[in-house]
Amino acid sequence: MSTKDLIVVGAGIIGLATAFRAHCEGRSVHVIDRADRPVGSSIQNFGHACFTGQSDDVQSLMEKSREGWLEAAQAVGLWAAESGTLVPAVTEVEMQILQEFSAHRGADKVVMLDAEQTSQAVGNPQLGAVGGAHLVRDLRVNPREAAPKIAAWLAGNGVKFTWNTHVTKVAEGTVYSNRGDFNAEEVVVCTNFELVDLFPEMAERHELEVCTLVMSLIERPERFSSDFSMLTGTSLARYGGFSVLPSHEALRAELAVREPELTGCIANLMVTGIPEGLLIGDSHAYAKSPEPFIDERIAQLLLDKATNYLGIGKPVIKQRWLGRYANSVKTDLILEKPDARTTVAVVASGIGMTYSFGLADRIIRGDF
Ligand SMILES: Cc1cc2nc3c(=O)[nH]c(=O)nc-3n(C[C@H](O)[C@H](O)[C@H](O)COP(=O)(O)OP(=O)(O)OC[C@H]3O[C@@H](n4cnc5c(N)ncnc54)[C@H](O)[C@@H]3O)c2cc1C
Repeated sequence: MSTKDLIVVGAGIIGLATAFRAHCEGRSVHVIDRADRPVGSSIQNFGHACFTGQSDDVQSLMEKSREGWLEAAQAVGLWAAESGTLVPAVTEVEMQILQEFSAHRGADKVVMLDAEQTSQAVGNPQLGAVGGAHLVRDLRVNPREAAPKIAAWLAGNGVKFTWNTHVTKVAEGTVYSNRGDFNAEEVVVCTNFELVDLFPEMAERHELEVCTLVMSLIERPERFSSDFSMLTGTSLARYGGFSVLPSHEALRAELAVREPELTGCIANLMVTGIPEGLLIGDSHAYAKSPEPFIDERIAQLLLDKATNYLGIGKPVIKQRWLGRYANSVKTDLILEKPDARTTVAVVASGIGMTYSFGLADRIIRGDF
């Protein structure tokens, strides 16, 4: 088989962003995936590139990622809205943490809103928010469109794709599969939680597991645009950027008392719009081999809480699913070279869409 400069194993957003970056640098690229199109975590999510809320130490990576998404969107012709994220504060503690975050990250990036502006931006006059913030640098993409469109564009521009092909081993520039061997100068493995198939010791060292998340798609009332994006108090308790703030512990304590059901299912209650509707989620459960069942009680809880924020009385549910992503309690990112010609890149937290193009830049530059 012909030798390429680079083989990417895994056609999710991490593999595709890597292939895109390498292709733009003039390298010959071959992408191999066991599915017949992108159907992994990269199409199951909110399409929310939440740069602002990530921790301080990755903010320059976030800027690279933002640039990369916008460049890919322009080249490929996919939708990437620079609409930012709304965060309504429904208690004084939530408002306090947003004020601290604005002072910390910068008032140009975290624009504070008063109660009236927040209710208007959320589209619910009955919201009763104390105030809120607009994280202006965050991007929105459509997860159902982004990875498939990037793959199609790459395939149309000279990148070779081999679908329906299960990779069984990667070592020293050779990719072994159920359809024979492929060779390249360099191989990047982006197989998400299925890393355990190819590098079990690495997966075990990082205690890699699968996080399952209950998600719904509901019909989008006309007053919500498809670039709508809202985080809530549970999100402020979750993302790394907020954990250094003085009021973080107070927020967590308040949520445990005020929202025991949400904290009980480790919720990050959020909503984003896409042309197909409003995406609502999510809860978190962790296992090496998760069961496939959706807990209807959790699905209904998330739906009730989210539609209450939005003032939607009778949501029309279009779809439900149990999303999956890779998780590690030890690290957000596995980025290693098991041999001189192989790189492994797995985002081990629910932020792979946010990291993707920044991570691809680091992989291609060998900056790790
Ligand atoms: C419900 C949900 C909500 C989320 N919300 C957000 C969000 O708002 N913002 C955000 O930034 N992130 C979010 N995430 C996380 C994000 O979706 C993931 O981190 C990201 O999609 C991971 O991309 P990936 O390319 O590593 O994985 P995937 O998209 O799963 O791609 C991996 C690919 O590898 C292939 N593969 C695996 N093993 C093999 C093998 N042996 N041989 C060949 N091919 C193989 C698979 O077929 C698959 O196509 C969310 C995730 C979920 C599930």
